[in-house]
Amino acid sequence: MIITLRAGAPPETVASLAQGLDAAEVPFRDVTLAGSRYLVTSASWQGAPDLFRACAAAIEAVRPFATEYQLCTRAFQPANTVIDLGDGVVFGGTATILMAGPCAIESEDQVMRAAEHLVRTWGIKVFRAGAFKPRTSPYAFQGAELQGLKLLDKVRRTFGVKIITEVKDETHLDVVAEYADIVQVGTKSMYHFTLLAACGRLRKPVLLKRSFMATLKELLQAADFIMAGGNPQVILCERGIRTFEPTTRFSLDVGSAALLREISHLPLVLDPSHAVGIASLVPPVAQSAAALGVDGLLVEVHPNPAQARCDRDQALSFAQFDALVPRLRAICGAVDRTLI
Ligand code: PEP
Ligand code: MN
Repeated sequence: MIITLRAGAPPETVASLAQGLDAAEVPFRDVTLAGSRYLVTSASWQGAPDLFRACAAAIEAVRPFATEYQLCTRAFQPANTVIDLGDGVVFGGTATILMAGPCAIESEDQVMRAAEHLVRTWGIKVFRAGAFKPRTSPYAFQGAELQGLKLLDKVRRTFGVKIITEVKDETHLDVVAEYADIVQVGTKSMYHFTLLAACGRLRKPVLLKRSFMATLKELLQAADFIMAGGNPQVILCERGIRTFEPTTRFSLDVGSAALLREISHLPLVLDPSHAVGIASLVPPVAQSAAALGVDGLLVEVHPNPAQARCDRDQALSFAQFDALVPRLRAICGAVDRTLI
């Protein structure tokens, strides 16, 4: 249930309302989003007409919800959330933003070569690369960390691109946010609730990847965790879920992606690279993802895929990427979108 507070509601009435909820042992979040203030309770709570009557001076509206995720839904906000990063990079409009780059930052030469190719050849506006890599093996390359972020800063200054990079936990969230235009929460972190809470305090867009073990409901609840912290700039990302099929790395859940567009006002990005995990299959899957009419695509590209230190099998070569982009453009055009 979402209780919308009136602008200029008497503070003592708001306090009485909050005390009434506490007295009834109803957990709630005091949420300020885009200048409006709400008290949000579990959707299963039936409400308290007497309390609402007594506190009417503070209440503009009381809205019940059928689902436990609430703030991310079109029932709460019918219109798309629009996230404008400047320079034509707008999520939630008619653009499909192509975000590309290597999985991990490995060296200055590697990221500069990747960025040079992507920007000079294709005018890519958002460059991806991870400095903090949440690897499944403790013995795998864990990322270049702060040194990597500094290389991303060089990429940003040299090529004028926006940066999306991953945060692994809240100990380095502030430093990642300093270097990132979009902070990425990876599939393995979707259930990391203290990180989600910290992302709620950020004033930066957060790309939230669906855990490969999560239902849509759990993804949307994770989005609500961030929004309930006061950050409305959440981008959802479908990147494949684990099914009984191990040959492709994961299974891109396109049906759920289509459903997310209906349920949620948040921008939606698809990641064909992690979903399929095999470079030769990334272009056809990226094409099908573009055909869904999504707000963005996240594609891994490496100057020398055979040498990639992370996600080698799925990294596109420059030649593979070059063959893909014109096709994506044509497909986006066919679904009334512009590839940027
Ligand atoms: C990534 O984008 O490099 C990444 C680690 O993605 P995911 O969290 O989807 O595995
Ligand atoms: Mn990767």
